Order: sequence, then C-alpha cells, then structure tokens
Amino acid sequence: MEYVEHCVLCGKYRTQHPYMKVRDALVTGEVFDLTRCGRCKFVLTNPRPEAQDSLKYYKSDDYISHTDRKKNLKEKAYGLVKKRMQVRKIQWISKHLENFPHKEKEARNEMGKGFSLLDYGCGTGDFVIAAEKAGFKARGYDPDSLAMQRAQNKGVKTLKVRKDGCLYRSPEFDVITLWHVLEHIPNIREVIASCRKALKPNGIMIVAVPMANSYDALHYKEKWAAWDVPRHLYHFVPGTVKNLFSQEKLECVATYTMPFDALYISLLSEQNRKTERKGEHKPGKNTAGASVIFRAVRSGIKSNLKARKEKYPASSQAFVFKKQ
Ligand SMILES: [Zn+2]
Repeated sequence: MEYVEHCVLCGKYRTQHPYMKVRDALVTGEVFDLTRCGRCKFVLTNPRPEAQDSLKYYKSDDYISHTDRKKNLKEKAYGLVKKRMQVRKIQWISKHLENFPHKEKEARNEMGKGFSLLDYGCGTGDFVIAAEKAGFKARGYDPDSLAMQRAQNKGVKTLKVRKDGCLYRSPEFDVITLWHVLEHIPNIREVIASCRKALKPNGIMIVAVPMANSYDALHYKEKWAAWDVPRHLYHFVPGTVKNLFSQEKLECVATYTMPFDALYISLLSEQNRKTERKGEHKPGKNTAGASVIFRAVRSGIKSNLKARKEKYPASSQAFVFKKQ
C-alpha cells in the first residue's frame, strides 16, 4: 500500500486528515481509509494499493463497466442507462464544438463529421461505437487489456498510449472524453496534462465523476456505492474538479447532471446497507427485493430533485473543459 503524503490537488505535505472508513463491497470486502486535505479539502483513498497490486481489486465478474453481460437487475439497469446516456453525451459534445452542424435538416449521421474523438477509458468500447455512428472519427483507449481486446473484437479503433497511460504528444483530437475514469487514474495530473497537449486548439475535454457531496452521498454516508474503494482513488466535489483542471490550464465552460446515476448508485448503496445489516461482508451479493428497489428509487429521485434546485450537485456530473 502507498500512503499519499503530498496532497494531489494543492501539493501540501502532510495535510491529510482521517475522513471516513469505507468497505470494498464489490470485490474484496476489505475496509479502506479516506483522508481529506486540511487545506484544499480534496478527499483521497489513502493509503491506496500500489499500481502493480491494483489489478486484483478489479477482478470480479461484477465489475460491470468492463463486461457486456445483461443478467441480473443491476446489470440490466446498467445496460439501459448506458444506451440512454450515449445519446445525451453526444448532444453535450455537439454544443461545445465550434462550427458543429446544428441544423436539424442535416442528416443525423453527419453530425460529428470531421471531428476526431478519443474516449479515454473506453471499457468495451460502446461509447466509441455510438460516437462513430454520430459521425465522429472515434477511437478508444482502456488500461484494461481484456476490455480493449473486447472493444477491438467489436470493431473499435484503439489508440496506443505510453506505459504510464499518458498520450503521445500530437494535437490530434477535437474531443477527449473521460466517462467515470478520472477517479481511477493514479498519475492523474500527468494524464490530464498529456490529454491537454493532445487536444487541438479550442478542443474540449468532457469529464464525468461522482460527486461526493451529492444528496445520495450524504444520505448513504460510508455505504454510498460511488466511493467504490479502492478502485476510486479520488473523491471529487465540483470545486475540486474545476481546481484540478484550471491548474492544467483547462477552463470549465459547462456542467451537466447525470440523473440515471443517482438511481443506479442508490440501488447499489441500498444493497450495501442490506448486506452490512445482515452482517455479511462478502461482496457480490445481489439482494434487490421490493423494499430495496423502493428505497433506492426514492433516494434517486430525491437526489435528482435536489440537484435540479441546485441545493446539491447531482450524484454524478459531467464537466466540459476547453483548451484556451
Ligand atoms: Zn490539498
């Protein structure tokens, strides 16, 4: 395990204070510590697994963003959400690209024509396929070689990156997307800087992350499923995301809420609560009775309503950054 002494955001030495203890409910059942910087309030999983040991925490059939199974309720819900969100994500991108054809007359599959897109952390490549269908020249990269293989088998064009996950320097992308990826990257600053270099002038980065001060996060506390330790190394609030990117000279020009995430995360969090109550700490138990679903839907709706009134950030938000 590696203890982070220098705050990843503000760089201060030894400003980490205990924040919360969270169980890995997905793979190992182990308990991990979160710490918060006394200066900039950035929350870390700390200590965190060394890079060479981190793979074992992803070894689960339940690690669904890297599988294409649609079996139980959780997975079915995930598949459905993914489809709906792909359309929305393309719409967000289209709003922030200059000279993007907006007229309704223009054929749907001509929308992103000429624009290049990289999906960093593409999993099995479904968003790359959706972007291609929308006309983008789209490519994907994922640190999980098995996921990349699956993506390639589906015809996804992939990108070679450096061993440390940084992109080679050549400004070739109009859009780089990181959908729920940033929180997994150990050398986060280097990767962001390399993405910026790989963006064309006026290019955009879209970054979606869970919000650790959303209503559902505060409601479920240490049972909140989006802590997802130790796979998530960082736990963001809107201010820390914007701060991180502004240090890399990327300006936030818009944010979007991801309403399905509140429902999905609430469902997983209710399951966490139930297994802990029963004293079962074994991960992978999919208990989704009527009461679990009812409470999850109630919490998800509540979280989205609060986000709409801007009392809290949404469970997950996407931030659009522009290269100046
Ligand atoms: Zn700090």
